[in-house]
Amino acid sequence: MKCIFCKEDSSSSKSIEHIIPESLGNTEHVLPPSVVCEKCNNYFARKIEKPFLESPFIVHLRNRQEIVNKRGIIPPRSALYLDAGIQVNIDDQDLSIYPSKESDVDRFITTLLTRKRGTLISLLHHPKPDSYLTARFIGKIAIEALAHRFIQASLTYEEIIENKELDPLRSFVRYGNSSEQSWEYNEREIYIEDKIFHENGSYYQLLHEFMFLQMASNETIFIIAFFGTEYAMSLDRNIIQGYRDWLAKNHDKSPLYP
Ligand SMILES: [Zn+2]
Repeated sequence: MKCIFCKEDSSSSKSIEHIIPESLGNTEHVLPPSVVCEKCNNYFARKIEKPFLESPFIVHLRNRQEIVNKRGIIPPRSALYLDAGIQVNIDDQDLSIYPSKESDVDRFITTLLTRKRGTLISLLHHPKPDSYLTARFIGKIAIEALAHRFIQASLTYEEIIENKELDPLRSFVRYGNSSEQSWEYNEREIYIEDKIFHENGSYYQLLHEFMFLQMASNETIFIIAFFGTEYAMSLDRNIIQGYRDWLAKNHDKSPLYP
């Protein structure tokens, strides 16, 4: 058994791999152990998923959408306690406000005790994670989603490992590049983040969905949407123009909704 990223022996791998992190609400799309080796699994958790999930934009998305992490905790949102110039966390689950940094605790308490009223500023806009990190995050999901498709269809995923055309994306995701040059992707909002869908008498919110779009040029585009934002990335080349042309021809409709 070989790892789909580093192609090394992965038979000793014991953990299942979440294609989309659990902290984004995914419990169903997982890969069996040994598709991704322990080393790659750890690398992605530390170097890609953690910084992505802990970026202010994603933390606040998880907070707004009340998505619990593995330990059942919704990440707190941050605000500024203006009177002391301290960044604080607001925890809606137990209605508490506390300094984000341990070192601010004394000053936070002293300021609270000496004032009758204070000002709390909550920011509504947070910067998105940078494109280099986002591209690696989406690219990792793309390769794993491909393996997931093969497994679902009862095919061996050996072909993914052998496929040389996947090597540039594989390498970008697993090793990055020294110039921090990103892999192109297309990002756009296709519906609002808390849209409620209605189908066959039931109401539901879509957390994420993905698919592969096969282009006439033989290029494969991975498309994923979470909370209304669609990301599209080519598996074969570091150019997304093919998808943009496809959109122009198809009235900007998302291929997720044919
Ligand atoms: Zn590996």
